[in-house]
Amino acid sequence: EKSTVVITGTSSGVGLYAAKALAATGKWHVVMACRNLEKTQQAAQTAGIPQDSYSIIHLDLASLDSVRKFVQDFRATGKSLDALVCNAAIYMPLLKEPLYSPDGYELSVATNHLGHFLLCNLMLEDLQKSSAAEPRLVILGTVTHNPNELGGKIPPRPDLGDLKGFEAGFKAPQTMIDGKKFEPVKAYKDSKVCNVLTMRELHRRYHESTGITFSSLYPGCVATTPLFRNHYPLFQKLFPLFQKYITGGFVSEELAGKRVADVVTDPAYSESGMYWSWGNRQKKEGKSFVQKVSNEASDDAKAEKMWELSAKLVGLA
Ligand code: NDP
Repeated sequence: EKSTVVITGTSSGVGLYAAKALAATGKWHVVMACRNLEKTQQAAQTAGIPQDSYSIIHLDLASLDSVRKFVQDFRATGKSLDALVCNAAIYMPLLKEPLYSPDGYELSVATNHLGHFLLCNLMLEDLQKSSAAEPRLVILGTVTHNPNELGGKIPPRPDLGDLKGFEAGFKAPQTMIDGKKFEPVKAYKDSKVCNVLTMRELHRRYHESTGITFSSLYPGCVATTPLFRNHYPLFQKLFPLFQKYITGGFVSEELAGKRVADVVTDPAYSESGMYWSWGNRQKKEGKSFVQKVSNEASDDAKAEKMWELSAKLVGLA
């Protein structure tokens, strides 16, 4: 009997190749949680993922109803949940005006953070029922969450402030977690800070009582994924070259996917509460290490406040 992993956002990029790597072990059945079923089916086929090693269930992370429906649909399959990978994200750096989710929240924070926050909270129950020795919950982070690291220095910097926007209910005219003016690049970075805070708070609240391993990782700069599809065409052309030849941060989608798969399965990554990185410059046979998260992402009081307010926004509290 194979173990089951749910991965969000496998229609392209890191998620697709993480699915491929996990399927290739022969020990994992991958449940692809995606908003576009046809595109996902096509991508899985093109990537050569064996048909009998995965299934696709609809999930639109921007919609809280859809997250709840996904959890019901997953449970109806009767599969046990042994690992959950929160990977999907949107990045829309050129937006002039904010977009809103069906629930009325700024779209990138709604998708990247709030949808995953609800998903993690609901699926904790499923992970606890797993017969795996050590179920895992992995959330994708990014270097851009951390202004202390080379790759995170380019402004605007993430800053949740006192979470005034969340406190005020996070509906228009609120568009930013800190309650300030809309800035789409910062909104993405803020959402990724929330991803790391969520992982650390899950660890603090539930690791001991459940035995679940909670972790995050920065897989390297995967400059060729469609994550940058909403950027200037010239940026899309130059960014991979810049990462390859100048910063040395470039990582292929295949390698990034393999790194995610390792964090899901390899005994080397069994410690909970960790944020893994392979560094900003890729070296041949480069080894992973525990990376310190940003000051904001290591602030326990902020984690707790973020948790309480997010719980309200997704209807858990
Ligand atoms: P991609 O754009 O290739 O993949 C994003 C995935 O998320 C797609 O499958 C997309 O589906 C899905 N998605 C977007 N919105 C939703 C939604 N509302 N509901 C369900 N699925 C959705 O990006 P990457 O592979 O580059 O990024 C994956 C993760 O890796 C992200 O968390 C990102 O922050 C992280 N990361 C990426 C880095 C990079 O350099 N690329 C660096 C560090 C971290 P659809 O096809 O339908 O749009």
